[in-house]
This record gives sequence, C-alpha cells and structure tokens, in this order.
Amino acid sequence: MSQVFILLDGDELTSAGAELATFGARIGSVTAIVCSAKSDAVVASAATLPIEKLIVVDGIDFAKSSLRSVSNVLAELVKRDAPSALLISSSARGKEIAARVAVRTESGIVTDAIDINDALETTQSIFGGSYTVTSKVTQGTSIVTLRSNCIEVASVTSSASVERFDGALLADTQVTITSSEPAQKSARPSLAEASIIVSGGRGTDGNFTLIEQFADAIGAAVGASRPVIDSGWYPHAYQVGQTGKTVSPQCYIACGISGAIQHKAGMQTAKTIVAINKDPEAPFFEIADFGIVGDLFTVLESAIASLK
Ligand SMILES: Cc1cc2nc3c(=O)[nH]c(=O)nc-3n(C[C@H](O)[C@H](O)[C@H](O)COP(=O)(O)OP(=O)(O)OC[C@H]3O[C@@H](n4cnc5c(N)ncnc54)[C@H](O)[C@@H]3O)c2cc1C
Repeated sequence: MSQVFILLDGDELTSAGAELATFGARIGSVTAIVCSAKSDAVVASAATLPIEKLIVVDGIDFAKSSLRSVSNVLAELVKRDAPSALLISSSARGKEIAARVAVRTESGIVTDAIDINDALETTQSIFGGSYTVTSKVTQGTSIVTLRSNCIEVASVTSSASVERFDGALLADTQVTITSSEPAQKSARPSLAEASIIVSGGRGTDGNFTLIEQFADAIGAAVGASRPVIDSGWYPHAYQVGQTGKTVSPQCYIACGISGAIQHKAGMQTAKTIVAINKDPEAPFFEIADFGIVGDLFTVLESAIASLK
C-alpha cells in the first residue's frame, strides 16, 4: 500500500487538516507530520482521522519557525521515506512550503487542487472556474496543495503509531523569527475554512451591519468584493477574488455584488451560490443556483427575522 504524507500545520487540528487526511486515505496509508509546540493536542485530536502514523517533529514549530525550517524537515522526510504523495493545504504558507520541498526533492508539484484520486490524478479549477484541468505528477513524490472545503471529512477511530523526529538540526540558520503575534481571532469562522460565506459588495454602500448579523445567525464567515476594500469599508483580509482570497465553501451568498470575472475567480467553485441583487441583469445570476432580485437590506432583514 502506498504511503501518503500530510502536513498538519498548526497548534490545533483544523478542518483543512482533517480534509487532507481524508484525501490521503483514498490513496494509501496516511502519515501525518506535526510541527507544533502543542503537538500532544494535535496528536490527540488526530485520533478521529484515518491516520496510521504521526511523525512529531521536535524543535520546529509551524506557527513560529520560518518556512525554510518546515520545508527542510519535510524534504528530509520525503527523501527518507519516498512517499507517493505529500498533501498540504493551499494556504499561502502551504504553497510556499510545497514549492520549496518540490525543488529540494526534485518532485513535481500541483497547487490549488480541488480533488485528488487514488491514481494521484489531481483536479484544478482555473481561469475563474472556466476550465477544469486534470493532471498527474510524473517525477518523484506528487506534491499537491489542496483547497479547503473540497471533501467531506471521514470520521474514524484510529490508533496511529507515533514517531518523534528531531528537526532541530534542520532549523533555518539564515533567518530567525524574533517575535510573532497571532492575529486577533474573530468569533466568526475564517474565510478559508468556512463552509458558508456571506459576502458584501459595493451595493452595501459600506454598511455591513446586516451582512454581519446574517453571517452570525447562520455561522458563516464574512467576505467582500474589491471596491469594499478599496473604499476602506472592510479590511483587505476579507477580499474574495483574483487579487484576494480564493474560497470554496459549501455555500456562497453574494449580496450587492455584480459578479465581475475577477470576483468570480475567487469563489466559483462554491457548491451552492446564492445572489441577492436589485438588478435582475446582474452577471452573478448567470452562475447562481438561487437568485433573489431585491434590495439586499430588505432581504437580509427579513431573513434574519425568520431565523430568529
Ligand atoms: C486586475 C483586477 C483584479 C481585480 N481583483 C478583484 C478581486 O479580487 N475581487 C473583486 O471583488 N474584484 C476585483 N476586481 C474588480 C472587479 O473587476 C469588479 O470591479 C468588482 O468585483 C465589482 O465589485 P462589486 O460587484 O461589489 O461592485 P459593482 O460592480 O459596483 O456592483 C455592485 C452591485 O450591487 C448591486 N446593488 C446596489 N445596491 C444594491 C442593493 N441595495 N441591494 C442589492 N443589490 C444592490 C448593483 O446592482 C450591482 O450589481 C479586480 C479588477 C481588476 C482589473
């Protein structure tokens, strides 16, 4: 049975990590690599995932160590065990680490995949979702970064074996991080991992009160189109689109967003798309599964009232 590495990247098990384990189990026997100061907690929470082995890396902390340190460790382990695939989540850090490991191990890489099958064929949705590309790495280990919200997480009872790996000697000596502070966490789910996103566009006129209330009522994250960011109505971290975040939630609710190609490029792989727009000709309706022609404030107010 082929061996698949996944990187569990943080101090807690994220839904993105759980998805990697589920994808990995399709391909073969999953070994999860944990680089965290809180590795015991990550190991404990991995017991519900289809993971057969955990390699706990001592001396390297994903949250605090430089990308080179994490890449050095992964490259060393890939060279040692020659797994058929290494799966990493498609965050900016994840993609940079994947690229570095690919170079060091002379392996092929596919980024931003939305699927991978047991024959290691990956699927990508590109050019704003207008093309679906299937590809397969032909050299070395298949190094693949996968977007979040692309597979239903398998829940199992597993008892993975644990190996401790000393990563201290592989730590980056050229750059040391002198201090780091986690960004203030909002009570809402993060854009990258949320299964529902409520996004507001220029049609909000900068008033996100109802967008936020509606998002909170349904446990969703808040997103925004670029004019919202450019006008200073919402921080850049919330921008969805070509020059913002790429998201793939179960449901994307666009409120007062016209549906320009650059916005759709960041969300077109959402499973269900809902558009609320007062203009019946708005391009968003062309890709929406459900469309509401109307004033977003009236629609959201009545939706919130019904939910209450
Ligand atoms: C290189 C490049 C990169 C870009 N990157 C991005 C990106 O990453 N993300 C992004 O979003 N854009 C991006 N853009 C901008 C993009 O082209 C569009 O201009 C932008 O997406 C439009 O945002 P919008 O739909 O919010 O605004 P508009 O196009 O102005 O649309 C506002 C919509 O709100 C509707 N509306 C108004 N009032 C109401 C109301 N009360 N109730 C209901 N509906 C209402 C209107 O009918 C209209 O459809 C980029 C552009 C370029 C050139």
